[in-house]
Amino acid sequence: MATRLSGPPAAEALLAQTARRAAALATPPHLVIVRVGEDPASVSYVRGKAKKAGEIGLRGTVHALPDTTPQAELLALIAGLNADPGVHGILVQLPLPGHIDPAPVLEAIDPNKDVDGFHPVNVGRLWTGQPALSPCTPAGIMALLAHYEVQVAGKVVVIVGRSTLVGRPLAALMLGADATVTLAHSRTRDLAAVTRGADVLVVAVGRAGLITPDMVRPGAVVVDVGINRVLDDAGKAHLTGDVHPDVSQVAGALTPVPGGVGPMTVAQLMANTVQAAERQADRRAAP
Ligand code: NDP
Repeated sequence: MATRLSGPPAAEALLAQTARRAAALATPPHLVIVRVGEDPASVSYVRGKAKKAGEIGLRGTVHALPDTTPQAELLALIAGLNADPGVHGILVQLPLPGHIDPAPVLEAIDPNKDVDGFHPVNVGRLWTGQPALSPCTPAGIMALLAHYEVQVAGKVVVIVGRSTLVGRPLAALMLGADATVTLAHSRTRDLAAVTRGADVLVVAVGRAGLITPDMVRPGAVVVDVGINRVLDDAGKAHLTGDVHPDVSQVAGALTPVPGGVGPMTVAQLMANTVQAAERQADRRAAP
C-alpha cells in the first residue's frame, strides 16, 4: 500500500515557517486580494485566503468589486495598489467576468507584488533560473515533496498536463531542482508508456481516474493535483482526483484528494506574500 503524502501536516509546517518569517519583518506583510463579481467558488476561496493571512500574522484585505466593473477601473485600482508601499502582495482572483480580458490585468500587477506568479516577468524569471514569485500550486507541490523528503534531483519526473497554472511552471521548478522532466498532454502518444517511466508522476488534468495502476511504475511517487466532482451510486457529489484509487496498490507514495495538494496552495500563497515583503524591505534598505 502506498504511503499517504497528506497535505495538512506539510501545509501547517510551511505556514508555521512563514509566520516566523513574517514576524521578523518590521511591519506585517500585506496581501490585497481583488475579486470581481460574486462567483460562489471565488467568494469562498478569497474568504479562505484572507482568513488564513490573518491567522498567521499577515494582513489580508479584500476588494470586492461588482461584476459590472469596467476593465479600466480594475486597472486603476491595480495601479494604486502597485504604488502603495503598504501593499506587498496583489492577487486578482480568477476567473474574471467575460467583459474583462485577464491578460492585461495580470500584466498590470507589479511583478514584485505578483504573489500568484502569473506575470510574464515572473514566468521569465522562473524559466531562466532567477529568483521569482512562482505560481502557488506548483510551488506548493515542491514544498509538499520536500516536507516528505522526496528527492527529485536526478529523478525522472513526468507531469501530465501543460497548463500555465500548474504543468508548465512545475516543469520549470522541477528542472531547477535538477529533475529530468517530461511534460505530457492531450496529444501525447501512448501516455501509459510515458507515465510508466516516471520515478515521480504528477497528474494535473481534471479527469477522474485517468491514471490507472498499469500506468504507474511500482514504487513511484504519485502526486494527484486533479479535483473532480463526481456523483456516487447514491447520487451524492464528492471530490476525487485524476488518479484511480487502485494506484495505491502500486505506487510507493501517493497524495490523497482531497487533503493532498489543495492545502499547500493557500499555504504557498502566504509564503509568496512574505517572500515579496522581504524583497521589498531589502530593496528599501539597499543604499
Ligand atoms: P487545464 O484544463 O488548464 O489543463 C489540463 C491539461 O490536461 C491540459 O494540458 C490538457 O492537454 C491535459 N489533458 C487533458 N486531457 C488529457 C488526457 N486525456 N491525457 C493527457 N493530458 C490531458 O487544467 P489545470 O491545469 O488548471 O487543472 C488541472 C486539474 O488540477 C483540475 O482538476 C484542477 O481542478 C486541478 N487543480 C487543483 C489545484 C489544487 O490546489 N489542488 C489548483 C489548480 C488546479 P492540452 O494542453 O493538450 O489541452
